[in-house]
Amino acid sequence: MDSRSIAPRKPPRRLESMDVVRITPRGYCHGVVEAIRIAKREGAARAGSEPVTMLGYLVHNEHVTRELEESGVALVAEPDRMKALEQVTEGTVIFTAHGISPAVVDAARARGLNLVDATCSDVTRTHDLVRELVSSGHHVIYIGKRGHPEPAGVLGIAPEHTTLIESIEEVDALELPDQRPLAVTCQTTLSMWDTQSIIERLQERFPTIEVHNEICRATQERQEAAVLAADDVDCVVVVGSERSSNSQRLVQVVREKGHRPAYLVDTAADLDPAWFRGVHRVGVTSGASTPTQITRAVIAAVEAMPDIA
Ligand code: SF4
Repeated sequence: MDSRSIAPRKPPRRLESMDVVRITPRGYCHGVVEAIRIAKREGAARAGSEPVTMLGYLVHNEHVTRELEESGVALVAEPDRMKALEQVTEGTVIFTAHGISPAVVDAARARGLNLVDATCSDVTRTHDLVRELVSSGHHVIYIGKRGHPEPAGVLGIAPEHTTLIESIEEVDALELPDQRPLAVTCQTTLSMWDTQSIIERLQERFPTIEVHNEICRATQERQEAAVLAADDVDCVVVVGSERSSNSQRLVQVVREKGHRPAYLVDTAADLDPAWFRGVHRVGVTSGASTPTQITRAVIAAVEAMPDIA
């Protein structure tokens, strides 16, 4: 046999399945569970006899929204709650887990609607805090994301005594309208680390500022678990919707604090095999508004992918 014709054998490609680390805690928080329970209860009790409408996405997840629509709860998707209300002429209106501005509540009452409040108790606590701070003479700096419904609800409590900021740069540019003592609080679903940096800059600029960090426990626990798990995996998949603030923050903290690639997927169909080239261990977590069955399907799909070295 002509030895020159024998090509050296390539080592076989590894086609074992990847290790999937299920990051815990993940998925539904108490506020989402309760909001869905309330909306389904209203849908079951009233749909068919009168319109039942959620004013904006009850929680920021498309699957949950579809399920509620199937239970008879209609969606007005307009993000501005006051404008959304103009589309609701009768029946029951459900305020979402993100909370609602008092002006919208008053307007809904004036329209003769039946009001159902699915605001998360953690958001209600921030509303109560802002009310107390303003009534005790403070001006409140609120750290949050513009355009998200939660800040819109909080700022509606006392717009003239509340200032929204998003970043350290905005701390430096702050010009406050009056000489009131200052307090700072924040949206419940922000990055713990970004928020702490902004608070520290505020304390440098305003040493007597009163600090009330209101990032909720569910958000903190999910972020801490994801960053810790990042040490032990090659990349992290976050299951959640684009519009979900807490899901987006999970991606952000894994990239910035866990120093691993992180990918947001709404369903298993969004998984891109290219992300997993050279990857042997994948962490999977999910946002606080992601249904368990969607996360399970993503885990199964990742496990079914070959581990290609
Ligand atoms: S993420 Fe936090 S604030 Fe938002 S619904 Fe869940 S528990 Fe409530």
